[in-house]
Amino acid sequence: MHKKVTLGRPLNLDNIAETFNEVSKALLVRRDLLNTWTDNLVDPELGPVGKDFHAAFVNAECKEFLGLKTTHNALFNSYAYPPFEGEEAFKNQIVYGTTVLDDAALLFSARCHEIIHALQYVHAPALHADPFNAETEAFISPRDYLLRKERIEQDAYAKGAWLCTLATDDHPDIREKMDSSMLSVKKFEELRAQHGNLHAALTAGAHAAANTLGVWVTNGPKTTAADNWHHLALKEYEAIIDRRLKDGKSITFVRMEDNDVLALGQSFGPNPFAAADGTLDPSFRQPSSFGEDIEKRLATLNAKIGITDETALPTLGSTIKNTHASRQEFLTAMRTPRKVENIRPDT
Ligand SMILES: [Zn+2]
Repeated sequence: MHKKVTLGRPLNLDNIAETFNEVSKALLVRRDLLNTWTDNLVDPELGPVGKDFHAAFVNAECKEFLGLKTTHNALFNSYAYPPFEGEEAFKNQIVYGTTVLDDAALLFSARCHEIIHALQYVHAPALHADPFNAETEAFISPRDYLLRKERIEQDAYAKGAWLCTLATDDHPDIREKMDSSMLSVKKFEELRAQHGNLHAALTAGAHAAANTLGVWVTNGPKTTAADNWHHLALKEYEAIIDRRLKDGKSITFVRMEDNDVLALGQSFGPNPFAAADGTLDPSFRQPSSFGEDIEKRLATLNAKIGITDETALPTLGSTIKNTHASRQEFLTAMRTPRKVENIRPDT
């Protein structure tokens, strides 16, 4: 049984359509409360990290919404293509499912994970070189798109678990809510005790999350979380690429270098992908191995978009230099709201 933490006025979620305004207001009430929980996080090594985490999130200008049809607990929405006429390409929003609304501990843990994703988009240029981003024609290649997905989930699971461990003294419910996560509070505490410091625990946590075995698709085989992330990422890429090719712009497919992979872990706190000297830990340079199925689909996709040698692709860094003075300028430009116009509507 899960102990429900009810905040404010109880909601009747059975009449969700009628209570939409009430529910939206309730999310705001909960957000205030969760911000208080966040502000109070203190790390034994780093001291009071909660206020910094909260401030970083505010600076990211990420919006938070309730999705009445969202089946996930929460998700971070980066780009959607094509954007509606007059909308910005970069959505930068977290959408919560109504399932978590009445459960503060679950909402807190889901929110920490999604905030990490939001912060990744503040620091990592590779996340904006995305086929769903209407503001660019430079896309991360399919293989590196899978690598990218693996790293951002590792970072979000490791840091989500870390931040949740810091909240369990005040809110013990969180521990139980995280038991089914790819990286539970219990597991993270074990890793931290075993490795003796936060940085090493985050690195180990990132590996542990990717290696978690589970059945991710109904009636599917038992595979690793990394394998599931690869499938999801490839499905996204396959779904969007025809549409982008049809729009007839000149697309450049790019590959990530070490600094691009490293930047995926710079969201908040110690970087799980960094070695002691600050460079990329070599164990994070390549994605976890792909199954035959993934390799076949990648080959088909590469053939369709004209990639014959992935190692010969231009780098993201060199491609950014063609249009922007620096990586930071590219990041700022992609994050700056600009209404998108003249994108052909879907037929
Ligand atoms: Zn995630």
